[in-house]
Amino acid sequence: MRIEFKDVSVSYDELHALAGFNLTVGSGESVAIIGPSGCGKSTMLRLAAGLTAPSSGVVLADGEPITHPRQEVALILQDYGLLPWKSVLANAELGLRIRRMSRKLARERAMAALQQVGLAPFARMRPKELSGGMQQRLALARSIALESQVLLMDEPLSALDALLREDLQDLLLETWLERHHTQILVTHSIEEAVFLGQRIFVMAPRPGRVVAQIDNPRVGEAGYRSSQEFFDRCTQVRDALHEGGAR
Ligand code: ADP
Repeated sequence: MRIEFKDVSVSYDELHALAGFNLTVGSGESVAIIGPSGCGKSTMLRLAAGLTAPSSGVVLADGEPITHPRQEVALILQDYGLLPWKSVLANAELGLRIRRMSRKLARERAMAALQQVGLAPFARMRPKELSGGMQQRLALARSIALESQVLLMDEPLSALDALLREDLQDLLLETWLERHHTQILVTHSIEEAVFLGQRIFVMAPRPGRVVAQIDNPRVGEAGYRSSQEFFDRCTQVRDALHEGGAR
């Protein structure tokens, strides 16, 4: 599914959270968005998720205006959005049950998704009994179970320590390589953006806008994270962030 932002502005009274924002994410593409706090990254995801309406301009999914949340589009937030009183399995099933899938089929699909993220042995536990990294895996399992065509992620790994974070980045990459869904990842981490984004968009605030686009075609290639090119790309993104901030 292709997501397009066409000349989109979002204003809250005097504040221009986004102004003249243009971005097209092709079907099956993985892009990363990076920028300082307040530059409109979350607003941009909420537009794509159908949770916020633009003040002007239009946001399209496969050419159709996004006017409400849709089944094909999953948003993963930093707090995972898990229901603490339900089991891991019930949380993984949740989206399917909301969509009125039969209990049996929902259970099968949810178990398969839990298997994929390595959580099948914990299906009967409550989210609270899981570590932060496992809770994040569960949030991912939920969107895998839904077979979402678009995965929107707002700082999904920021609560995790460095090593765990790399594991989860690997899982996100594997999942994307396998499913080739459309993916928009908002992150504060330069390395994460370079590891996961085929294109990296650098944003700046007041008004929120894109100030640089960096192509990163080697995403997904074996050994990329430890290559010279990876480090060079990180430097390029860092420079673009500094330049954007200075403007
Ligand atoms: P980011 O995710 O990059 O930190 P946001 O999209 O959350 O940026 O916010 C962009 C700007 O819009 C910020 O200045 C924020 O304070 C403001 N903003 C976001 N949501 C609202 C709201 N519901 N009402 C008023 N201002 C908001």
